[in-house]
Amino acid sequence: MREKKREQFDVVIIGGGAAGLTAAIYCGRARLNTLLIEKSLMGGLATYTNEIANFPGFPEEITGLGLMKLFHKQAKKFGVKFKLTDVKKVDFSNETKEVETFRNIYEAKTVIIASGGRPRTTGAENEEKFLFDKGISFCATCDAAANTGKTVMIIGSGDAAIEEGTFLSKFADKVIFSVIHDTGKMDCNEIAKEQALANSKMEFMWNTIVDSFEGEDHLKTVVLKNLKTSELERVDVDTCFEFIGYLPNTEIFNDIIELTDQEYIVTDENMYTGVEGVFACGDVRDKVLKQVATAVGDGAIAGVEAEKFISETEVFHNQLMQKEKIGFIYIYSAIDSVSRELLPIMKEIEDELKDVAKLNVVDMYKGKRLCERLDCNAEPMKIIFTKNGEIVGNTKDCSKNHVIGKLKELAAK
Ligand SMILES: Cc1cc2nc3c(=O)[nH]c(=O)nc-3n(C[C@H](O)[C@H](O)[C@H](O)COP(=O)(O)OP(=O)(O)OC[C@H]3O[C@@H](n4cnc5c(N)ncnc54)[C@H](O)[C@@H]3O)c2cc1C
Repeated sequence: MREKKREQFDVVIIGGGAAGLTAAIYCGRARLNTLLIEKSLMGGLATYTNEIANFPGFPEEITGLGLMKLFHKQAKKFGVKFKLTDVKKVDFSNETKEVETFRNIYEAKTVIIASGGRPRTTGAENEEKFLFDKGISFCATCDAAANTGKTVMIIGSGDAAIEEGTFLSKFADKVIFSVIHDTGKMDCNEIAKEQALANSKMEFMWNTIVDSFEGEDHLKTVVLKNLKTSELERVDVDTCFEFIGYLPNTEIFNDIIELTDQEYIVTDENMYTGVEGVFACGDVRDKVLKQVATAVGDGAIAGVEAEKFISETEVFHNQLMQKEKIGFIYIYSAIDSVSRELLPIMKEIEDELKDVAKLNVVDMYKGKRLCERLDCNAEPMKIIFTKNGEIVGNTKDCSKNHVIGKLKELAAK
């Protein structure tokens, strides 16, 4: 087989939805050599929605496609490169990360995962024909207002289904649930169940699953099948909402990145995945609200953190791990007066041994991740010694005589 072509980038972003495109804007603007890989439609899930009424800045409303085209245009303006292809495999085990497509292996200093997810569907006949703007929706926040005074159906009875159904009942006249379980049995919590059963706008069709969807250009009828009797019942609706789960696009990250039981990526508030140099943003991460506005916020943080990570890596290799002299790295805390007062002493030591020793100082708060790389967390007033670009020891005794003695000893070895 032909060997795959290799190309190098500062940042590779997987996924071109709202989160990935925002991260791309931030990385491009920070002058990082950035590649964004999208497997199907640039703009992601938001492009499937006809009208985005809740993204700030567009009071006259805008189509999902229109909004995402603007995101794309802005990222292009900052020099981001784009490839339309599927990421098949990743290797994050080394400092240089590898992102593999059918023809190429892209090497990157940092990777941002923005691969989003997809709503789980029923698989019933004709479902594909009515997905998204044609009558089958997955987003009550997005489509509730358009269903004011109408009849909607909800597939599912979990917490999300009941929560979204309650929201929809403020707009629609009738909210009909198709529930797979026996009468009175639902997947949601007890309080939600009681409230739903007491809601006069809600109706429940127990023991049913969707058999097929019918209509011309737009969904008109949901045909339900009773699991006990096998009878089919036709229900006319304006919109059918499916809340039977959401599947994050994380298959290629299994066993590489920490995932929740539902297979979302676990991150901290800085979008850090726990794998050095790998960030995740948008719907693919475990979070409460999956919307364009939150994807944008996540993408901005991931872009900035990626840039910080790259500059920290450069500081780590070029300054902290310099090979010219014996290094001593003083870890201090700007808010700890005792450790701060030792800064001039460290400088004196460097001046005394200027031919052999080189001082670096790291503030443990500002340089939290540098401290992690140096394997010293939450400990100010510590000195790490380096020689030939490697850590060779450390001490908590920061007295002048001790440090000078240690440096001389290392220089003589
Ligand atoms: C019908 C519908 C209507 C909605 N309406 C609204 C609304 O009105 N307002 C609102 O704020 N939100 C709305 N949302 C939610 C919003 O679309 C999402 O929250 C948002 O798109 C998340 O963006 P993202 O970038 O995280 O993920 P996505 O938009 O899902 O983008 C992820 C991208 O990654 C790509 N990808 C995945 N795997 C790979 C791979 N291996 N290689 C390459 N590329 C890959 C996918 O093709 C996709 O384009 C709606 C959602 C739906 C489904």
